Amino acid sequence: MRCPYCRHADSRVVDSREADDGQLIRRRRSCPECGKRFTTVEEAVLAVVKRSGVTEPFSRTKIIGGVRKACQGRPVDEDAIALLAQRVEETVRAKGAAELPSHEVGLAILGPLRDLDEVAYLRFASVYRSFDSLADFEREIETLRAAARARLAADDQSGDPDDHGRLPADTSPATTS
Ligand SMILES: [Zn+2]
Repeated sequence: MRCPYCRHADSRVVDSREADDGQLIRRRRSCPECGKRFTTVEEAVLAVVKRSGVTEPFSRTKIIGGVRKACQGRPVDEDAIALLAQRVEETVRAKGAAELPSHEVGLAILGPLRDLDEVAYLRFASVYRSFDSLADFEREIETLRAAARARLAADDQSGDPDDHGRLPADTSPATTS
C-alpha cells in the first residue's frame, strides 16, 4: 500500500491485530522510504442488493444522509444521527451475511429512528414503505400511539409507586367490556 506521507509506492506490515471480535484487522505499516508509520483497517465488504438487482457496498455515510434528511427541522443532533447509523451497521453486520437486500437496511433504520424522533420516523417510513394515502399515515400513527400506551402501561405495572396518579387516565391498561 502506498505511503500516505511521501507517496512511496510500497509499505511493509509491521503488526496485525484483530479488532471488533475478528470483524476487522488493523495493520501497522511502515514506509521504507520515509520511515513513517500508519495504520490500515481491513474488513469484509458488506454488499447491499438494491431492488433493481444492482449491488453496492454498504455505506454508513448513506444511512446518515437518509436519516439526516428525515430529521430536517427536528431537534436531533448530528451525534445522535451518527450513533443511529453505527447501530444500524452493527445490526446488519451482526447478521453475518456477505450481502443483504436494501429493504433489510431500511428495516434496521426504522426501529432506532422511532426511538429517536417519531416525526422523523414517520417521514422515513412514508418513503420507505411508500405510503400513498392519509390512511397509511393514520395507521402508522395509531401503531405509534398504541406502542406508547403499552410502554406507559408496562411502566405502570412495574410498580414505581411514585408514578401512580400521575399518568393520564386513558393510559391505564384497557378493560374490555
Ligand atoms: Zn513514506
